[in-house]
Amino acid sequence: MRCSHCGICCTKTGMLLSNADIELLERAGYGRREFVRYDKNGYAKLRNRNGYCVFYDSEKHRCKAYKHRPSGCRIYPVVYSEEDGVIADDLCPEKDTASADELKRKGTKVVKLLDRIDSEAETRKQRISL
Ligand code: SF4
Ligand code: SF4
Repeated sequence: MRCSHCGICCTKTGMLLSNADIELLERAGYGRREFVRYDKNGYAKLRNRNGYCVFYDSEKHRCKAYKHRPSGCRIYPVVYSEEDGVIADDLCPEKDTASADELKRKGTKVVKLLDRIDSEAETRKQRISL
């Protein structure tokens, strides 16, 4: 797909993180506390600062952690919606440039990723309630 670098997907992000995403960013030198927040259900999400993802450079309109960005950011604009299943996110102005093949390939990935993230959140929640 084409990306116009509009920054919409990096604005007020609620991007979910897998343990592997967190570890990849930590190996790149970022401290977990800088970029991860946990919600009450045990999900790890990207932090925001001044209305943008902490990794977003709002002057250059680029991701500062591009090489190490989370899987969900790599898969975007393909997302999973409870109502519609695998779709290209309406928020992305370039969503129609994603091919059917990309939608299928990334759709498989997003479903697997969300399964893993659900299971990791459940484990985290159980650990906290022990
Ligand atoms: S919303 Fe779409 S076009 Fe805009 S930066 Fe994200 S992927 Fe690129
Ligand atoms: S990690 Fe990068 S691509 Fe993902 S939301 Fe943050 S700035 Fe955007």
